[in-house]
Amino acid sequence: MKTRFAPSPTGFLHVGGLRTALFAYLYARKQGGTFMLRVEDTDRTRLVDGAVENMVRALQWAGITIDEGVDLESDSVVQKGTLGPYIQSERLELYSKYTQELVDAKKAYYAFDTSEELEEMRNRQMLNKQPTRYERHAMKNSFTLSAEELQTKLDAKEPHVVRFAVPEDGRVAFTDLVRGEISFSTKEIDDQVLQKADGFPTYHLAHVVDDHLMEVTHVIRGEEWLPSTPKHVLLFEAFGWDVPSYGHLSLLINEQKQKLSKRHGDVSIEDFKENGILPEALVNFVALLGWNPGDERELFTVAELEEAFSLSGVGNSASVFNREKLAWMNKQYLMSLPLEEIGKRAWPHFVNSGIDVSDLTASDSMYLQAIDMERSRVSALQELPEALGFVFADSLSYEPSLLVWKKADAAEAKHMLTEAKALLEGISEWTLENIESSLRGWITEKGYGAGNVLWPLRISLSGQKNSPSPFEIAAAIGKGKTKGRIEEAIAQL
Ligand code: GLU
Repeated sequence: MKTRFAPSPTGFLHVGGLRTALFAYLYARKQGGTFMLRVEDTDRTRLVDGAVENMVRALQWAGITIDEGVDLESDSVVQKGTLGPYIQSERLELYSKYTQELVDAKKAYYAFDTSEELEEMRNRQMLNKQPTRYERHAMKNSFTLSAEELQTKLDAKEPHVVRFAVPEDGRVAFTDLVRGEISFSTKEIDDQVLQKADGFPTYHLAHVVDDHLMEVTHVIRGEEWLPSTPKHVLLFEAFGWDVPSYGHLSLLINEQKQKLSKRHGDVSIEDFKENGILPEALVNFVALLGWNPGDERELFTVAELEEAFSLSGVGNSASVFNREKLAWMNKQYLMSLPLEEIGKRAWPHFVNSGIDVSDLTASDSMYLQAIDMERSRVSALQELPEALGFVFADSLSYEPSLLVWKKADAAEAKHMLTEAKALLEGISEWTLENIESSLRGWITEKGYGAGNVLWPLRISLSGQKNSPSPFEIAAAIGKGKTKGRIEEAIAQL
């Protein structure tokens, strides 16, 4: 079996596209089939430069691997497989050939109507409260023109389209893998344009030809294509080809019940990436948009999804894109992925943040310790540099009064910091455990209030009220910097 993802390269991959690709990919994996990527670029007016690269890059980032068709290798577009080309603009001759086949079989016909004539037809239908549909028997086409008239127009190369002659009576039915039995009367189906006046095929013709020639067996796509599917089924039948199985995924909506769109915030995969969402979290989150694993589990790696996914768990009501849930999911992965991995992925965010990390690397232990103490406190990678700026700063600036614990005064803060500094200087092995146990042991031994010591210490080490514990900070910034910061604090008191 084979599924495919067939984006039009009109911009960035957005979250709805990622879900379609993911479900098609998972379904193929689960069935031991092939996942193919085809580029649908016959609408030349909507093309965006670099869009194919961006889309594939986003899929690769998400961990979706392409078995056949368009892919990226060393950042160049490649086409893998024997049934290509997999880019529609490289297949134009094929589409003409198949369109001609339908015309010859009288299953498609030429139509010469101008846009004014078509508009007039539509206006008249609207006025009469009729559905707007091409009137095969009233307009200017192979049915209404005489054989000579038709030939004269074709010889004179008068602009024309080719339309599909939808059977006038009958029903078209198919079983949708998500929605069950679907059936339409052919009376409801318009005579779709198959070839435009510029000779380019429409999406409807091109993708049917391709799904057949590329041996696609299962078409998983968005619900917006459901109303067109009867036309596609009829086209397969007109060619005498097997109709693939279809599964239409429900809409994604936001919490205001609107269709997700660029206008309502960042829905492009690039944006999520830039905002520090981990691919593991995004994929896990997107998988659960419309798919119910049937148990209480919420956290799935791509490998686990490949194992657990089934279309029978996919519902047909709209799925709500809940940003808080995504943030929660991201937090789970921030805490559970290996520290080195988080360090590596957070690194570009540090480099771009303006924090001076020039004498560090992504595997430096000071850097990793800093990440480790903060990773359970943030919900996205790009929050890390901001939260950890104090660790890397040369000196801190804060109000000296902040050093004073609410139940104490400046003299006491100074006294505590002086003693704590002496104690810390005596620690020979500078580890989090040693720092914490020495400080806590000493506080108990002296009968000090924990806040009286730990508060001024926290402020002197971080310059801020909300920070990880002073033990963690001291461990991360090292003994020398800890001592220096306490001295600076004492000097201000
Ligand atoms: N090119 C179409 C799109 O971008 C694909 C629809 C389909 O999967 O058949 O939505």
